[in-house]
Amino acid sequence: MSTTELENRDFYELEHFKLQKQIITKLPKKFCYENMVVILKDCDSSSNLFLVGMLHIEDTTILNKIKNLLHKKIKPIQLNEYEITKALDFAFSDQYRTEEYVLNINQTREIHFSKNQEAKDILDDLLSQAIKMNSTDIHIENYNDDIDLRFRIDGVLHQIVTPLNPKNIKQVIGRIKVMSELDLAERHMPQDGKLKIAYKNGETIRHLDIRISVLPSNYGENIVLRILDSEILISPYINLGLSDTNINRINQHCQLKNGIILFTGPTGSGKTTTLYSVINKINTSENKIISIEDPIEFDIPKISQYQVDFRLGFEVLAKAFLRHDPDVIIIGEIRDEESAKFALRASSTGHLVLSTMHTNDAISVIGRFRDLGVPDSFVAENLRLSVSQRLVRKSCKKCNGTGFLENHSTKAKCPNCFGIGYKGRTGLFETFSPDNKIKSMIADHKSLQEIRSQYKNEETLEFAARQKINASVTTKEEVMKVINLNSTKEEPYQLNSDALHRH
Ligand SMILES: [Zn+2]
Repeated sequence: MSTTELENRDFYELEHFKLQKQIITKLPKKFCYENMVVILKDCDSSSNLFLVGMLHIEDTTILNKIKNLLHKKIKPIQLNEYEITKALDFAFSDQYRTEEYVLNINQTREIHFSKNQEAKDILDDLLSQAIKMNSTDIHIENYNDDIDLRFRIDGVLHQIVTPLNPKNIKQVIGRIKVMSELDLAERHMPQDGKLKIAYKNGETIRHLDIRISVLPSNYGENIVLRILDSEILISPYINLGLSDTNINRINQHCQLKNGIILFTGPTGSGKTTTLYSVINKINTSENKIISIEDPIEFDIPKISQYQVDFRLGFEVLAKAFLRHDPDVIIIGEIRDEESAKFALRASSTGHLVLSTMHTNDAISVIGRFRDLGVPDSFVAENLRLSVSQRLVRKSCKKCNGTGFLENHSTKAKCPNCFGIGYKGRTGLFETFSPDNKIKSMIADHKSLQEIRSQYKNEETLEFAARQKINASVTTKEEVMKVINLNSTKEEPYQLNSDALHRH
């Protein structure tokens, strides 16, 4: 049946149309099922017209939404619910059983953005490219006559060549909004949404959660998509970049029956990842581990996690949790007097306590406990180990950090790091475990400076950094972003020069 014949009929049945998956899926699955609509025919090349099967043919709101999403003329065609569902099930059969949006990737195919792509293809390619490059965030920003696309990779934003332009941006943002169940018509208020994606690459499937945030600006709606692996991949802590000395030190302290072990560093330093990998190591059937957090940020496999408000007071918390007879207690973060007191109480009643703290270096936890009003004698008695860390990007091994591969006279972008020169991240670590002499200094209220000068630690953050620079694991520029390499004696990252010469 020809297009003109189809357009001119008064009465239709599904069997009049030759259904095509790639045409039906131009509209998001959820939108189609919720509104009972299905694209029946793309009469594009000549008439710029789509025939769309609808249950509620008179509903202009739905009709306008379809027009907005497709940017085509629409000819609505009355179909019944059974026919529409049948057509949609046919087209979305590989996505039907799950709430997830399925992204099929061919890892070897180079993605080439082109000008005339449809919103669906643009978004699929954009998401695929971002996931392929291990991006954590996608930033889309509108400017006067330009659209900016940036991916955050290993903590750093990179400008990406984009198929987005002021003409197609509204369709793409419309599609993102519909897929994440946001209000398509709302263009003046900030909105937050979620989207689940199954990223299929051959036989392997990764499940990803995408958090979407839309913020209207003077030139249009800006969007940030945060990509999260829904299953946390806990890597053993020997893979995090720790030295043998520090691995041994952590191993020894994990065996303790009581005391406090702290993971410290600024936001984004990777301390939570290190905490998780240590928990994973001690999570055996011999240990009962509970985790107390405010709020619970990630699910830790096979650990009972409790969301608590530390303002309840440590007496109440101690009563509730210590009688559950745990061996190990994890406290999400020690950040106020109540959580600090609870940690010390738990430790002094025979529990091993693991937690994180926001400090610049390993020894500074003493000062932080003092700020939180914890008596020095408690700290001296209970603090076993403090691990401080920073994250730096690793130089790409394939191209030696240049971003390019040279083959005779030709230069090509390195396929491993996509021309960035860095791939993945590693930690710089220092540890602090007070011996008896240091413990008595803490109990005697000695200043941090005095304690620091007495604590013999060759492996400072700066030492770890210099070793990794020398071994070409990372670069000086990368390290300089997170620690001061040219520190003077007054500063905490003082390097013992004898130690450097010995290594
Ligand atoms: Zn490379």
